[in-house]
Amino acid sequence: MSTTVGPRIRQLEATVINKIAAGEVIERPASVVKELLENSADALSTRIEVDLIDGGAELIRIVDDGEGIHPDDFQLAVSSHATSKIVSDADLFSVHTMGFRGEALASIASVSKFRIRSRQQDSDSAYELKVEGGKLGKVTPAAGPFGTSIEVRQLFHNTPVRRKFLKTKATEYAHATEYFTRVALARPNLHMVLRHQNKVSYELPATENLVERLRMFYGNDLTSQLIRVEREMGEMRLWGYVAHPSHTKANRKGQYLFLNGRWIQDRTVQAAISEAYRGLVMVGRQPVVFLFLEMPSDQVDVNVHPSKWEVRFQDSQQIYRLVLSAIRDTFLSMDLNGSMSGPAGKPSTPHEETPEQKQLKLELTSWAKSQLEQAESELVGVEPQPVPPAAIPPVQASSEGTDFTSPIQSSNDGEITTPESTASALPSPPQTYLGGEIRAMQVMECYLLVDDPSGVMIIDQHALHERIMYEYLRPRVLEGTVESQQLLMPLTIELASSEAAVLLDHQDLLSEFGYGVEEFGGNTILLNRYPVMLQKADHAKVLRDLVIELDTPGRKPSRRDLVDSLLHMMSCKAAVKAGHRLTPEEIESLLAKRHLVDDAHHCPHGRPTAMVLTQEQLDKQFGRLGA
Ligand code: ADP
Ligand code: MG
Repeated sequence: MSTTVGPRIRQLEATVINKIAAGEVIERPASVVKELLENSADALSTRIEVDLIDGGAELIRIVDDGEGIHPDDFQLAVSSHATSKIVSDADLFSVHTMGFRGEALASIASVSKFRIRSRQQDSDSAYELKVEGGKLGKVTPAAGPFGTSIEVRQLFHNTPVRRKFLKTKATEYAHATEYFTRVALARPNLHMVLRHQNKVSYELPATENLVERLRMFYGNDLTSQLIRVEREMGEMRLWGYVAHPSHTKANRKGQYLFLNGRWIQDRTVQAAISEAYRGLVMVGRQPVVFLFLEMPSDQVDVNVHPSKWEVRFQDSQQIYRLVLSAIRDTFLSMDLNGSMSGPAGKPSTPHEETPEQKQLKLELTSWAKSQLEQAESELVGVEPQPVPPAAIPPVQASSEGTDFTSPIQSSNDGEITTPESTASALPSPPQTYLGGEIRAMQVMECYLLVDDPSGVMIIDQHALHERIMYEYLRPRVLEGTVESQQLLMPLTIELASSEAAVLLDHQDLLSEFGYGVEEFGGNTILLNRYPVMLQKADHAKVLRDLVIELDTPGRKPSRRDLVDSLLHMMSCKAAVKAGHRLTPEEIESLLAKRHLVDDAHHCPHGRPTAMVLTQEQLDKQFGRLGA
């Protein structure tokens, strides 16, 4: 037997096991930030400070004022499956803390230069322990205040492949900020500080008021238009704030859901949110919400995903009904009463209604009504009179007098605007155009019918214009000659700080497209140049959408891919939308440009821009063939 040459099975060493485990939970500096923040929160801290250098790749330091760790427990704390939070498997079903797997510290310590320093209230000294590449040093006395301080240097220094996969400092920092944000929103009563490169990014004083904390992250624009929701169902309670439907995003990153204080992602809840906002936001746009679910911990299994992002509800149907009814009834109550009376029940976060919010309720009320009328008239097939503003994909007043003689076009960015701003933009009735060789007319505010030698041509106005814009923009981007407008006074644009970081990460690329962005600090950037073809666009919104194109988690797109997706996005934004009534001059100009672009039959997204019904086809339809 001893002569066998085949592989034999042996137990792995703890350092190897931890490295493997680290691969699961510790993906990047942000994962460390998440785990350490959760530990500090679990330790009943009131104040947590986070320091990052180089997006956390060089240093992550978290200092809290929590209960600390007994020096005898240091070594246990950094070994795997050692936790103070649960004892038996039964406890798994009644978890009250953020952590419980007992793996985080062991994993982190196995792939970094790690130092833990901690002092408990009754101890006369702090103690520290260093771990490098999983090898434990000795526990020694040290100087330090009550609480725990953990330093993680050179993450992945001993797993070079992983280190190589880290993105730029700005991107890693943005990811870390996202985790910081989640904890900060889940626990407004924690004083939290985040510094990057020794500069304060966030200093969040403890508050009882969630809206106050939200304002630190999202600014006044969004937070002054938040709508409170609250509902109880059996042992479950949902509360939080949902944004006015005019604040949307292209993805769900603006939807925060917390279950018993823990950030989670859940499809059932997402579906309920979409359903509640159906008809209020454009297809493809996502509402912004901050929701808190509370329920007895035995009704949900949080031990499903290593990062605990996904949970399993005992009764997800009920969750769906709870979320949907909480949001929808709030909207409906505004519709029925002309004022929004919050559902009964004491808000757990004091929140006085501001005059802006009262105004908002009124706006929403009339808006919701117009939406309802629109939906009803569609059901019976009657043209609504007058067209409810929100039903028109947002053609601004500025699009009147649009001049297609230049490829520079007004842009509507797809955002739903408030009733006031669109009410004045009701377009005039469709018109026929007869002129020169072309006989064309716009139908359905969307298509152009052209009497062409080849037959009746039907052109999708948006698709064609998008193609024209694409053909116009592409060579200019490649040659670096995109016309851009310099601003005398740079615009400050407030973004989520992760968004700001992504943009700053791609300054050069954006510059090729005519956007000049610069760091301003915090979550604000300076815009000093924008592409002329997007003159009339909402730049803040375009930039936010650019972030989505630029920020593809889990995959590093090539430069070519990025250029291509930005080209598509910007031509789409610069192009006239469906629902925009064109003037005869605009129709003429658009059709004239048609012959200037190669491959004009397909818009850059690959949709056809035009189709032809030939005389032969028509004759056949009407039984004229061979007649
Ligand atoms: P878990 O959080 O799943 O228990 P960790 O590996 O994250 O596992 O932490 C291991 C143990 O170390 C925790 O159970 C806790 O007792 C202790 N610990 C970690 N961080 C802190 C901290 N900041 N303050 C006090 N105790 C801590
Ligand atoms: Mg933990």
